[in-house]
Amino acid sequence: MIDTLRLTAEAANDLLTAGEVSSDELFSAYLAAIGERDPELHAYLHVCDDSPGEGIPIAIKDVIGTKGVPTTAGSKILENYVPVFDSTVAARCKARGLRLLGKTNTDEFAMGSSTENSAYGPSRNPWDPARVPGGSGGGSAAAVSGGLAPWALGSDTGGSIKQPAALCGHVGLRPTYGTVSRYGVVAFASSLDQVGPVAKNVRDCAFLYSVIAGRDENDSTTVDVPAVELPTLEDLKGLRIGVPKEMNEAEGIEPGVTAAVRAAIELAESLGAEVGECSLPRSVEYGVACYYLVAPAEASSNLGRYDGARYGLRSDGADFREMLMNTRHDGFGDEPKRRIMIGTYALSSGYYDAYYGKAQRVRTMIRREHADVFEKFDLIVSPTSPTVAFKLGEKAGNPLAMYLNDLLTIPSCMAGLPGMNIPAGLSEGLPVGLQLIGPQFSENTLFRAGHALEQAIGFDIVPERLR
Ligand code: GLN
Repeated sequence: MIDTLRLTAEAANDLLTAGEVSSDELFSAYLAAIGERDPELHAYLHVCDDSPGEGIPIAIKDVIGTKGVPTTAGSKILENYVPVFDSTVAARCKARGLRLLGKTNTDEFAMGSSTENSAYGPSRNPWDPARVPGGSGGGSAAAVSGGLAPWALGSDTGGSIKQPAALCGHVGLRPTYGTVSRYGVVAFASSLDQVGPVAKNVRDCAFLYSVIAGRDENDSTTVDVPAVELPTLEDLKGLRIGVPKEMNEAEGIEPGVTAAVRAAIELAESLGAEVGECSLPRSVEYGVACYYLVAPAEASSNLGRYDGARYGLRSDGADFREMLMNTRHDGFGDEPKRRIMIGTYALSSGYYDAYYGKAQRVRTMIRREHADVFEKFDLIVSPTSPTVAFKLGEKAGNPLAMYLNDLLTIPSCMAGLPGMNIPAGLSEGLPVGLQLIGPQFSENTLFRAGHALEQAIGFDIVPERLR
């Protein structure tokens, strides 16, 4: 019997190499789990009955292009879109024999923090189906936490890998901007979008990162990355960990979240880390506001390609202009429309300097503030999400409340820095996420620290009600 809830990708691969299971048996075990639990969790928008490869399975977020397999980005405007080429990340997974299980649910164009903005209905949290799995990559999170995939790819613009990992109790890495190719990935905000791994533990996360990272000639922002070191050490000797006070004492952080994160920080100290306080005052105060100018500005430009003419949905209209207007009216949901309006406004002549220009200057300030902190520390820690998983519908009617859920994940994204979530413990029976952030290209440090802490914390990733 293959226990898909507990089996890590590494363990699955060991079974495969030892000849104890076949690739087909593994694939079927996940399909069976999907058949059993996906009707409740709705982690997948599309399930592949079969796919080529000799390795273990993987799920891929539906903003990531997969040749011959529907890629909707959670939007009605792409409901009939089947890419004719693979994204670089999908191609790299395939080249390693990984078999595509299916495409996972996402807020429309990755805009959201709960999957409630998906045109195809929300996913649910495996710990409590009345609650959201986070977003935008809630589908990948629910799949990994619910035993419907050993691991998955997500994408993160302002927290979409880290926050769902926090809410569903697993590991997720947003890599340094420029380490993973965006070629073939549906663009939301190009200066922020990064693809990254979603996994059951830090070693799997590190391995999957090594599969997808590195220079790609089809994405000129990518660079070669340091060789990935699979973490083995269980101590944190010599590591300097900063605790930014604004990110640990921000208004709205639930007491149960603070308690779990504090306990993890104490554990880090007992493992030999030197822990000290630091400060990121302006990053926390202005991060979200700055993000909600830069990201919508870029989105308003990126979404301009959906015109009904070349691919995707096309509505009727008497002439081109009317067809275009009807297509966008019918095809985009409320959140993309809201962001197109904000972004277009921020970029319009007369307002450009006051909004977009100013946001870019604030972004530079945020980057500098982080750089200063990393003069003294190897990494910094905070809660990933100020709250545990919230109920479906709780914030759906209030965009601002939804945006504020990303308070702690956004600043480092604006600075282009890598961040990882590991589970820190439970609060009221729901997972609490610990966020580790490092300077550019410090993934190996994050893996080392994350692995040691993960061993010490001993969090059981299988949702209590499914044990
Ligand atoms: N929740 C944030 C937003 O709505 C971040 C989403 C993401 O990282 N894709 O934009």
